[in-house]
Amino acid sequence: MSDCLFCGIIAGDIPGQIIDSDEKTVAFMDINPATPGHALVVPRKHAADLIEIEPEELEAVATAAQRLASRMDEVLEPAGFNLINSCRPAAWQTVFHFHMHVIPRYEGDPLKLPWIPGPGEGDEIAAIAEKIR
Ligand code: 5GP
Ligand code: ZN
Repeated sequence: MSDCLFCGIIAGDIPGQIIDSDEKTVAFMDINPATPGHALVVPRKHAADLIEIEPEELEAVATAAQRLASRMDEVLEPAGFNLINSCRPAAWQTVFHFHMHVIPRYEGDPLKLPWIPGPGEGDEIAAIAEKIR
């Protein structure tokens, strides 16, 4: 896609700190890191989001994200990781080329996700589960 930021980084037309790549994926540092090491893994083949990406491309991204997390685990020694994908603006997506955030976590780091877990209604959970099934 000619006007896509991440296609531009993959093509080398837009600068990016590329840290890993394979036949189907490229990984590069996020320009606004949530924590030190925050990176993005993208498929080379443009797909807008989780619903559009083909399963084999998603599989390649997941495998690359695991490889990257393992590498970060060795060299950055974080306390843990979050893998995050946002699909559509309602879920905070801002760049419409599928990407998996790989976010190393450190004890006491400042990252807060806007999600306050609280108990759900059993009946409501069951009814939604039935709809999905
Ligand atoms: P989203 O909000 O769609 O889940 O994530 C998009 C991510 O892309 C954000 O974390 C943002 O910081 C990152 N980003 C936006 N523009 C650029 C850029 O030009 N270069 C890089 N490396 N990352 C970018
Ligand atoms: Zn793209």
